[in-house]
Amino acid sequence: MSVDVPLCVLTAVTGVSGSGKSTLVTQVLAEVVRGHLGLAPEEPDAAQLEVDVQDASGVESFDRLVRVDQRPIGRTPRSNLATYTGMFDAVRKLYAATVEARARGYSAGRFSFNVPEGRCETCQGEGFVAVELLFLPGTYAPCPTCQGARYNAETLEVTYRGKNIAEVLALSVDAAAKFLSAVPAASRSLETLREVGLGYLRLGQPATELSGGEAQRIKLATELQRARRGHALYLLDEPTAGLHPSDIALLLRQLHRLVDAGNTVVLVEHDLDTIATADWVIDLGPGGGDAGGQVVAAGPPAKVARARRSATAPYLAARLARS
Ligand SMILES: [Zn+2]
Repeated sequence: MSVDVPLCVLTAVTGVSGSGKSTLVTQVLAEVVRGHLGLAPEEPDAAQLEVDVQDASGVESFDRLVRVDQRPIGRTPRSNLATYTGMFDAVRKLYAATVEARARGYSAGRFSFNVPEGRCETCQGEGFVAVELLFLPGTYAPCPTCQGARYNAETLEVTYRGKNIAEVLALSVDAAAKFLSAVPAASRSLETLREVGLGYLRLGQPATELSGGEAQRIKLATELQRARRGHALYLLDEPTAGLHPSDIALLLRQLHRLVDAGNTVVLVEHDLDTIATADWVIDLGPGGGDAGGQVVAAGPPAKVARARRSATAPYLAARLARS
């Protein structure tokens, strides 16, 4: 397997979903690169993938592997957008630096809802409490002490530009970008989140409320924020799934930014706009499921669009004719 092109799309006949052969190819590719980097296999069943590193060439050009998948960014409501991206550290430092916080001797830790000092003790910083019902399954209700704010009253007395820290967590990414525009460490994160189309999410939105696609774009934004030149291999599995066309355009711009910085992006995709923008396309087929798995065509989009056996070709040709 030779990888010497910056943006590569593995496409397959529509109907082959997340568990399809193209997904398997990214798993194999990931394990080959992990092997080259001296990392242990990530998938417990990687041994069954029969990865033969001897057959791989070009892997030595990668110095890092980043898989941007749709797995949740956290399994409890304690992780959220702000904590995952690291932006919340900057916000907590901002509050600790206010005149009021310094007068009271509050450190940045005081503004975490995960430590006893500053959080509401009734709900232990969760913002809600479990309610046992006699004849019904238990449920959750807003915490009677903090009304969902997650902090104790003293912590909430500290404000920055008229808002306490709980009110900042309630802001959308778009609103927070304005509110925190004077805080470089936070605004960098917020801008990258907006660039991948997540401006509508709340900073404190629990990880458990985010969709797989949102989780994937948060991970991508976190990567973009580190934005450095390099030779990383980024692997993404159907990143456009569930996205509005305008968000797909945003996402593609970000992926090309990674490529422009010297990295390689390989993705599994059925979306024609994405396939058309790639430098190299590998079309797997000829059919879906058991009828697929063969490389039907490979090359720049214009070449794959002319491939005779490819089920994708006529659609790709029509898409290329439009642009
Ligand atoms: Zn509470």
